[in-house]
Amino acid sequence: MREFDYQRAQDVSGAVALLGADPEARFLGGGTNLVDLMKSGVERPGRLVDVRELPLDRIESTAAGGLRIGATVTNSDLAAHPEVRRRYPALTQAVLAGASGQLRNMATVGGNLLQRTRCGYFADVAKPCNKRVPGSGCPAVEGEHRNHAILGASGHCVAVHPSDMGVALAAFDAVVEYETESGPGELALTDFYLPVGDTPHLETALPPGALVTAVTLPPAPAAASRYRKVRERASYAFAIGSVAAALDIQGGVVREARLALGAVASRPWRAHAAEALLTGGPADATAYAAAADAELAAAQPLPDNGYKVTLLRNLIVAVLTELTEEAAR
Ligand SMILES: Cc1cc2nc3c(=O)[nH]c(=O)nc-3n(C[C@H](O)[C@H](O)[C@H](O)COP(=O)(O)OP(=O)(O)OC[C@H]3O[C@@H](n4cnc5c(N)ncnc54)[C@H](O)[C@@H]3O)c2cc1C
Ligand code: SF4
Repeated sequence: MREFDYQRAQDVSGAVALLGADPEARFLGGGTNLVDLMKSGVERPGRLVDVRELPLDRIESTAAGGLRIGATVTNSDLAAHPEVRRRYPALTQAVLAGASGQLRNMATVGGNLLQRTRCGYFADVAKPCNKRVPGSGCPAVEGEHRNHAILGASGHCVAVHPSDMGVALAAFDAVVEYETESGPGELALTDFYLPVGDTPHLETALPPGALVTAVTLPPAPAAASRYRKVRERASYAFAIGSVAAALDIQGGVVREARLALGAVASRPWRAHAAEALLTGGPADATAYAAAADAELAAAQPLPDNGYKVTLLRNLIVAVLTELTEEAAR
């Protein structure tokens, strides 16, 4: 591992100044992803700016009726927060479906959104990878891609974003707040991650050196919400497909639908086509299957990950049906 300097920031402006414009410096959250990548040589920062002592570890109600979640809130504290559990249950479920208890105790909200892909070629510095070394190629397209993207990918990269939390945040219309040397800014979570195109190494719309300071949630939807994840083993493993959904049903008609998919694209995938079809339609399995088909019509599976189309279709119908049954109780 390359030698690096370590500094602990005490306030937000200090953290941003410490990172400065140094392209070789990185913020350190819980370190559960970054340190692994440093050990494997994928990341070789010359300086780490530890953000864990910043006063960003609180979850507060906003004047608008939502929640503001500080960027250094741990995944465990986020999942356990009474207002998150009560108003945004899919978020608690998503966070608890991720990693292990020990990891969630360390991992932060900011770090979770900015964790890197689990593509095996990305993690292996002996292999080419456009995301790690732009222009070197994407061996996953013709190689191992069982867990890779079916939506929004390009021939330059077919990796998926691994965050469970991000999928629920996308369904809840979360906004990411950040701070730079020239002032604060914010991005809707759905605009936070860049399309892959021919620049898979450019992953987010954050300005260089930006510190994520918080994630803000607007008021929760009236309806119940749910997150369901499919993985290859029951203990901690990344998703091969997941769904975050909320449905407001009145008189057998869907008044409002929120739907986001995970492990299908380079970012949490907000299912706008499905939502449009669901809204105003009947609250039944036929309509849910039609909505799933509408969203997945854009899927471009590779030879070994076509199963994800069927998996996601079934998962969407199952989660929406569960929410419908819950609403009827
Ligand atoms: C065995 C294992 C299983 C896992 N399973 C899952 C899973 O099932 N689902 C899931 O979602 N995740 C899973 N994870 C990933 C885990 O959730 C992430 O490693 C964790 O959330 C990252 O948070 P962190 O605070 O440790 O980030 P770090 O490792 O500290 O940082 C990650 C990245 O974010 C940047 N960063 C950190 N904080 C900020 C900030 N405030 N502003 C700007 N940049 C910042 C860092 O510079 C770095 O680039 C797993 C990890 C492991 C090791
Ligand atoms: S899918 Fe993306 S991360 Fe994986 S090898 Fe290809 S370019 Fe690299």
